[in-house]
Amino acid sequence: MEMDLELRVSHDLPPDWLEAAAIALAEVCAWVPHPEAIKFVYTDSPRAFAEYAALSVAPSSSGAADQAEYQLDRADGAMAVALTVPLGSRRAVIVFKAGLLGDVNLARRVARHEVRHVLLNRREEAAWGIHRQLQAYVPRVPFEYVWIAETAIDEYRCELAVEQRDVASDPSLSNPGFNRTDVAGIEALFLAIRTSFRQSANASAAYHAVVSATERLMVTFAYLAARINARSPDVDALDDIEGLVDLAHLLRGIPNADEEASVTALARCIETVASLAFALLRRHGFEIQDRPQGKYLEVL
Ligand SMILES: [Zn+2]
Repeated sequence: MEMDLELRVSHDLPPDWLEAAAIALAEVCAWVPHPEAIKFVYTDSPRAFAEYAALSVAPSSSGAADQAEYQLDRADGAMAVALTVPLGSRRAVIVFKAGLLGDVNLARRVARHEVRHVLLNRREEAAWGIHRQLQAYVPRVPFEYVWIAETAIDEYRCELAVEQRDVASDPSLSNPGFNRTDVAGIEALFLAIRTSFRQSANASAAYHAVVSATERLMVTFAYLAARINARSPDVDALDDIEGLVDLAHLLRGIPNADEEASVTALARCIETVASLAFALLRRHGFEIQDRPQGKYLEVL
């Protein structure tokens, strides 16, 4: 059975890019169950990311405003290289930035990572939104940190599967496409947000920027933590990044996305990772608080 491929691009792609798409697709098709339920879209349009994100059926919605707000943040596809959108009953669409196809090995790696999200969703094991399934779960930190922790855990599990299963057997897949320089870039964002807040006093803009920067930081850490825990060759140079080794340690008991994890273990992990996100954000000079009037961003 075959997977579906769509190109949504404003210019014709070079032949070697088309070939890269075919290779990434064929490789995934060869091992993932029910490939016919997955569609790959390569696009150069940020709007396409947002449109597909809006089709998502996960996690099961309680209609709560916090979730709606948070999904809006996530719908900003400007930074995304790829996005997996669950459509229900095993189906999913994976939207990729077309530019990825300029590097065939990176395109192959990202395809394998994204397909792991499909597997997590099919097993209803994605950490993202898990607190909604746990009746008694009351996080000790505002929900933003919980959503971010859940996102980081899913990214970690998908990336760990790529490192442990794919890279181990095929070293040409070893380049994840970013490194410690990206961490420095994200950390610099916090300073920029602070400066801009001092000038504009726009608390709402600062809040959204801080949540988005924290998510990017934690997701980047999750990718790097997967390399640390998979003992990838080049990870020694990462151990001086503040908070990263802590995250790798917290995630050590969580299996990669090819293996089942217990909801209890995931919930416990969400709590500790959320607390780490809280601590890291404080170290960068911000704190999000729930107050009776609503969200409050404290600039420390
Ligand atoms: Zn991912």
